[in-house]
Amino acid sequence: MARSFAQLARNAEKEKAAIAVSKEPLEKPPLEIHQLGNLVLRDPSKRVSKVDESIRELARDMLRSMYSAKGIGLAAPQIGIHKQILVIDIDIETPTTPPLILINPEIIASSASLETYEEGCLSIPGVYLDVVRPSTIKLSYRDEMGRPKKMNANGLISRCIQHEMDHLNGVLFVDRVTAKEDLKRELKEHGFRKEDVNSIK
Ligand SMILES: [Zn+2]
Repeated sequence: MARSFAQLARNAEKEKAAIAVSKEPLEKPPLEIHQLGNLVLRDPSKRVSKVDESIRELARDMLRSMYSAKGIGLAAPQIGIHKQILVIDIDIETPTTPPLILINPEIIASSASLETYEEGCLSIPGVYLDVVRPSTIKLSYRDEMGRPKKMNANGLISRCIQHEMDHLNGVLFVDRVTAKEDLKRELKEHGFRKEDVNSIK
């Protein structure tokens, strides 16, 4: 039986509501975000074989923790779970815009043109430093309902996806910082050790 447009629209609304949570910061966020120096951040994450309600519940808790920390992206290994799940929302000030949930993301193409952009990370609070990455990417992933999707990204969203995808391979943005003196100073100032950085040559 064919579904009417009204039904399709209702279903789309229901699916969006399936994942959205309040963006208000919580006094007690559900998950602890691990910090630089904790080795859980260095282990690679496994692909999700089935996107079910338990994965969606995990994504909701990740969103609640991310919003509570005023972050725009969070990867599952940051909360000690080694599954390929990312939650992203570059518009945390607008209560109604839906977040982006990326499961098993893969970069299928990236631009030759590079961009320098200042990054920060909820696992390295206070530290902000320039990182060079491709400016645009093409991505395949599964959404929160398990459907295969593709997207092109540029600007802040591209930057955020690349940063979060690094987490799935145990890579942190400080590993990519080329200004070593700035890195040393920033880490020290915020109570982190430079020995916990695995610099990418
Ligand atoms: Zn991060």
